[in-house]
Amino acid sequence: MITRPGFPWSRIPNSLVRRRAERGVQLTFDDGPHPIHTRAVLERLAKWNVQAIFFVVGKFVENHPDVLREIVAAGHEIGNHTYSHEVASAWALRAVTDDVRRCHAAVERACGVPPKWFRPPLGRVNVATLTAAMRCGYRTMNWSLDSNDWRCRTSDDAEKCAEAVLHEVRPGDTLLLHDCHEWIAPILDRILPLLLAEHALK
Ligand SMILES: [Zn+2]
Repeated sequence: MITRPGFPWSRIPNSLVRRRAERGVQLTFDDGPHPIHTRAVLERLAKWNVQAIFFVVGKFVENHPDVLREIVAAGHEIGNHTYSHEVASAWALRAVTDDVRRCHAAVERACGVPPKWFRPPLGRVNVATLTAAMRCGYRTMNWSLDSNDWRCRTSDDAEKCAEAVLHEVRPGDTLLLHDCHEWIAPILDRILPLLLAEHALK
């Protein structure tokens, strides 16, 4: 089921937590890198010559630094999605800061390119995640359209997810997808050519 952020997330200004793209449609992939599914995503983005931002999890970067380097070599941007992917409470400033720094270090070690954007796990923005991001020199980016792609369990689900994205997407949307599951490949096969035909993709 495709969703847009509701209250209170929808009230946070775009300048503080970016959800809208300047133009076109911004594709974002969370929760990688994954040795199979991230590569399946990269193949499809290359086929259609589309750029994306990958919000990576530090512990997976340490497991698959080669996949991270492939993302960067293909010209995509890396975002920081914390080291542990644990959802932080609003009081856990020190823990979140450590989590952001640890992911930052893992990315720099793997590819030498420091990320600029931060996305908290589950997009749960609070005082701790916002402050930690700023302290570490990041801007926070969430999304305006959540595909809920990770809920897919069958090819029928993937087809429905792709159709919902195509039906709902608007210019300026930042779309949330995940490169950590097998259904992302058929979803991209369906949506990329049609998104390209109707919208500018990054
Ligand atoms: Zn995530």
